[in-house]
Amino acid sequence: MKISIKSILIISICVLSSITVFSQEKNADLPPEATEFYEPVPPKIEAGESITTPPSDAKILFDGSDLSAWINERNGAQPTWTIEGNILTINPGTGGIKTKENFGDMQLHLEWRAPIEIKGEGQGRGNSGVIIMENYEVQILDSYENETYTNGQAASIYKQSPPLVNATKAPGKWNTYDIIFTAPKFNEDGMLLKPAKLTVLHNGVVVQNNFELRGPTEYTRIPNYSKHAEKLPIHIQDHGNPVSFRNIWVRELE
Ligand code: MG
Repeated sequence: MKISIKSILIISICVLSSITVFSQEKNADLPPEATEFYEPVPPKIEAGESITTPPSDAKILFDGSDLSAWINERNGAQPTWTIEGNILTINPGTGGIKTKENFGDMQLHLEWRAPIEIKGEGQGRGNSGVIIMENYEVQILDSYENETYTNGQAASIYKQSPPLVNATKAPGKWNTYDIIFTAPKFNEDGMLLKPAKLTVLHNGVVVQNNFELRGPTEYTRIPNYSKHAEKLPIHIQDHGNPVSFRNIWVRELE
């Protein structure tokens, strides 16, 4: 068979252009549904009761008194979320809050409660989230008898890892999250050396077991790391629902 120079050129152009198309698509927006999975559904369990008080070496981020450890993530101002009877509630539409201080490797405890009055469904019901290092979201959602994609339900690592079980308590009841986080490591050139890792206990039950994150949380893209600071704020999301919080503390892990 005779292969002409012309045909070699045409083949080369085709191969090169397909490589270009592929590398462009890697970072292009996908329809949100492309990264949402519905099966298998994590089994529902009944978690035990847990009341937690912080250990003596914890840094208190919210103890019911004030939001002095936090700023509004949009404008840096004092947040206008509501505090009533030691409970903090999202003031929907005013923006998320983030810590003034930056954190890397950590043990983080927080308690959250979806509104008693059920409004909305799926992702629209009791949605918030704790976004570690402003990049890695552990989902907060009223996942009590509320179907949604499994990698977007409560205690999922949003759009990356569904929880091992669904330990969500009924609306109006308190949930605890105990999160152990290892920050990603990059070299000087920005290359990823070690991915971020997350272990999550939901109401005392392990739901994420040292999961290696594929990159920062994305809604419509494939996660992809890019170098960031060694420590960054903890962000609590305002997703438009009046989710409540109490007893937020962190221990830095060196
Ligand atoms: Mg969320």
